[in-house]
Amino acid sequence: MHPTTQETKSTCCYCGVGCGVIIEHNDLEITGVRGDPEHPANFGKLCSKGSSLHLSAKRILQQQARVLAPHMRENRADALRESDWESCFEFVSERLAQCIQEHGPDSIGLYVSGQLLTEDYYLFNKLAKGLIGTNNIDSNSRLCMSSAVAAYRQSLGADAPPCCYEDIDQAEVILIAGSNTAYAHPILYRRIEEARRNRPQLKVIVVDPRRTDTAQEADLHLAIQPGTDVALFNGMLYLCLWEGWLDQEFIRSHTDGFTELKDLVRDFTPSMVAKTCGIREQDLLEATRWFATSNASLSLYCQGLNQSTAGTAKNSALINLHLATGHIGREGAGPFSLTGQPNAMGGRETGGMANLLSAHRDLNNAQHRAEVAELWGVDELPSTAGKTAVEMFNAARQGEIKILWIVCTNPAQSMPDQHLIREALERAELVIVQEAYRGTATMAYADVVFPAASWGEKSGTVTNSERRISRVRAALSPFAQAKPDWEIAKAVALKLARKLHRDKPYFDYADSEEIWNEHRQSTAGRDLDITGLSYGILDEQGPQQWPYPFGAQKGATRLYTTAQFATENGRAKFIPTAYIAPSEKVSARYPFLLNTGRLRDQWHGMSRTGTVAQLFAHAPEPSVQLAASDMQARFITEGDLIEISNARGKIILPANQSDSLHSGQVFIPMHWGQEFTGGHHLNQDQMSSEHLGVNALTTSAFDPSSKQPELKLAHVKINKIDLA
Ligand code: SF4
Repeated sequence: MHPTTQETKSTCCYCGVGCGVIIEHNDLEITGVRGDPEHPANFGKLCSKGSSLHLSAKRILQQQARVLAPHMRENRADALRESDWESCFEFVSERLAQCIQEHGPDSIGLYVSGQLLTEDYYLFNKLAKGLIGTNNIDSNSRLCMSSAVAAYRQSLGADAPPCCYEDIDQAEVILIAGSNTAYAHPILYRRIEEARRNRPQLKVIVVDPRRTDTAQEADLHLAIQPGTDVALFNGMLYLCLWEGWLDQEFIRSHTDGFTELKDLVRDFTPSMVAKTCGIREQDLLEATRWFATSNASLSLYCQGLNQSTAGTAKNSALINLHLATGHIGREGAGPFSLTGQPNAMGGRETGGMANLLSAHRDLNNAQHRAEVAELWGVDELPSTAGKTAVEMFNAARQGEIKILWIVCTNPAQSMPDQHLIREALERAELVIVQEAYRGTATMAYADVVFPAASWGEKSGTVTNSERRISRVRAALSPFAQAKPDWEIAKAVALKLARKLHRDKPYFDYADSEEIWNEHRQSTAGRDLDITGLSYGILDEQGPQQWPYPFGAQKGATRLYTTAQFATENGRAKFIPTAYIAPSEKVSARYPFLLNTGRLRDQWHGMSRTGTVAQLFAHAPEPSVQLAASDMQARFITEGDLIEISNARGKIILPANQSDSLHSGQVFIPMHWGQEFTGGHHLNQDQMSSEHLGVNALTTSAFDPSSKQPELKLAHVKINKIDLA
């Protein structure tokens, strides 16, 4: 007899679109997945990644791919050995307590993930700031969204995307900047395609150095030189000024700082911008006219703006354009940052980053620290700035941070300038890796491994790009000995509190709902107030957008609809954004600019998508994409092995001719973490090339405001490998 099939509603664990899924399962196995027709993010649709979630959850695959039991070693020289939860919790809490006593709380760093659930994030943040006493907790969201956050806060007063997915259906112009939406947010891209079918007058402009699938379908593709976005947006503003396309009434009534900005953009003449960006003046004019004169212009943007040493400036320059033309706070209009990860937003809501506190409070604000301390029942919270992602690993490399606790992320693949990261992992005295999958590059550095529950086994909430909070529900119990992330944090916190003789803050939560209730209590009176949003309401009424204060019947579809912004005086701020050239440029030694990014069917380091054979059909192996002219000039043919290198490292990949690149540019997908030779045999010297992914080449230079590193631009040289 077949075990009874059940259905559990949950949320896709991949990108920030946050699609609702219905998991089909029995007591032993997830047997299928389909889109939830009632979920407002996707209305039943799923992309290739989402619709294969059940394949990656197959227990037979999990048996091979998952961490099955806790592991530890007491000395670096020893091999990891299987252990039990109690011994690992005791060992870790003892080492944490010792480290705090001997070196102070800032000798500990927690590096967490935008793939954690909000409840997990809340607890790790409380553990770091409320119990250990350090602000050294940061997230891989630092690599993803922090420039968007910094710009929203500076310009609009809060880290709050003002738009919603419905705006795609209502916009007259959609400007997509630094986003291959067709690959990275596929269900949103389908919504754009549908909007174009329904309204042929809708114009889509894509700003991207590459002619991606998204760019190919656009009405206008501005293939700017990498890193010149600020010049482009300032140039568009110059044209708005010159052509009289400004919304003077909006500027006068609802904004500050336009005079200073006007002085700055005076230099961004069409000829200067066309030359800097490598585009035609007439395309610049056309894009500006469409954007400024439409009734509703919407911008969608992502890592092409964020992952840059000028990430905050790029975001601010685009927001300036929206404010100057009044395209904000209305249906179909606004600057809409797309979140990369499924819960980058939820992490920020809980304050789970080095510069934030719960509910969008500011770490530098004494009143905010006191409010959170009171909520948690502790005397005070640490005021010293926490170390952000790159800074945290630098501090570990220099011996300042001695214990690293890495949760649900793989820095030994995903962080830039891998040599430095791996040195940090070597140097740290204790590396705790909390992870569901056993094959990650970071696992090689672990002294303790906590097996974490994965998608389909966890319960909580996530927030997607449009501020919509959805329930994540467990269909099965955690695989093998795995535990939900919050339960691991709780167990260590309880033991550590005893060793530190502390009875506060409270950690003895019975379930994720109890954590959620404390989190929503922390948001009372804040911009993201969700005091009214219980699990009960989410279960009865489905996903809801924030804010959702106590007594509300519905969340806020859009923000700033009355042009009352979240700044102190309620007026939005223009941020003068000078154009600063990228941190690296081409030279005789390094004549190519490297760009990195996603493929359509893979996710991050492929821990999960890499277990599904079908997802390799689109791109079976990594490659370096090169322009045809560059291949011809160097006598390179398809599949030749190419060494790509700079002062930081080198990798070897097969060549792949791409029509999407201008001469002088190369593109390498971010997903593969090991050197890959496509079946070619290398000699001993060639084999000694570093076995690292593309981040062997990227730079850890970061944006001064957001601290987000420049993952999408690095200078490199290429050499064809002689296999003789
Ligand atoms: Fe999952 Fe994103 Fe695909 Fe939706 S678009 S199914 S959230 S990966």
